[in-house]
Amino acid sequence: MVIKKLKAENFRNIKKCEIELSPGVNIFYGNNAQGKTNAIEAMYIFARGKSFRATEEKELIRFSEDGFRIYAEYEDKSGINSLEYSLFGKDRRRKKNGYKLESVKEMIGNLKAVLFYPDDLLLIKEGPEKRREFLNVAISQCYKSYINYYHNYKKALENRNCLLKFISKGMYVDENELISWSYYMAEYAAHIYVMRKEYVEKLKVYSEKIMREISEGNENLDIFYKSDIRSDISDINEAKEEYKKVLTSEIEREKAVGTSLFGIHRDDLLVNINGRAARLFSSQGQQRSIVLSLKLGEGEVNRDICGEYPIFLFDDVLSELDEKRKKYVLDGIGEKQIIITSCEDDNNLNKDVNKIRVNMGEYSSI
Ligand code: ATP
Ligand code: MG
Repeated sequence: MVIKKLKAENFRNIKKCEIELSPGVNIFYGNNAQGKTNAIEAMYIFARGKSFRATEEKELIRFSEDGFRIYAEYEDKSGINSLEYSLFGKDRRRKKNGYKLESVKEMIGNLKAVLFYPDDLLLIKEGPEKRREFLNVAISQCYKSYINYYHNYKKALENRNCLLKFISKGMYVDENELISWSYYMAEYAAHIYVMRKEYVEKLKVYSEKIMREISEGNENLDIFYKSDIRSDISDINEAKEEYKKVLTSEIEREKAVGTSLFGIHRDDLLVNINGRAARLFSSQGQQRSIVLSLKLGEGEVNRDICGEYPIFLFDDVLSELDEKRKKYVLDGIGEKQIIITSCEDDNNLNKDVNKIRVNMGEYSSI
């Protein structure tokens, strides 16, 4: 998959731009605070459905303007397509090939991308939430049904938590209601569990191999999916039955604390390096290598599932890699499209690179 064009109007510090992108390597370069990450952010909105860094969407609107519009033209195995996204006040519009998309769910899974940016290093050191998010974003780009299951699960969980909160405050709630929300949760949890389990099994093969290659055999990565049910279960119906048991097993304790203690919202992706928990024992360089292995692995898994590579967006991270790892990424480009940002005009990159100079929200190809 290749993104061919990005247009933006009143997005962040961009008044108006039209950027042509090439297959292979594209590098946005320029000084700090010129609009390199803003361009990456715009592209990734189409993949993820929302910004990876804005807390509120209105932050994306250029200061003192009423709204923004972004547009991407991309080519995938179905041909040339376009996506549009705009926000004016509360009026949010999404379109594919000029036709309205009803929801964010319909936008995700069209333009597929893997993002690697500096905050991703927190994937290793922080709690499980970031790692679940990593899995959610990766899997939802491959399977539309994942988003639906996840959405329905969250709704059931909110309802169940609401009842538990009432009970913890001394209010009366019919216990059958609690059980029936547990069963709803079990229904969706089973699907999510199976999809996460299968995804991580595939990711494991690629990321562990990539880690061995970038460390020349010195570092052994080991990743596992950790859930609340037995890890040997791979059948949906069996998973459903197990979740029904788990989600009704400790109701008294849950009533006391006022929240749901089990379910796929507590899952984790465990990461070990050389046999020890990476969260506790990895150096900064090792964390960078692990995240690089996970992200490149994500790209490989998504290609296996979807039949083509996603776009790779590397914000600021390539310049942070040592020469050996940088070379590994660039030598492995093959048919991938990779979009990099950097403060320097890196002359070591080969001559086929599409260089885009960024200056105060303006983009010029060189
Ligand atoms: P760095 O090399 O430091 O990462 P960058 O080129 O990636 O820099 P961006 O994150 O793209 O920089 O931001 C460019 C500028 O956009 C910043 O000065 C930022 O303050 C500005 N900016 C952010 N949001 C808005 C907005 N809503 N309206 C106008 N300008 C904005
Ligand atoms: Mg930046």
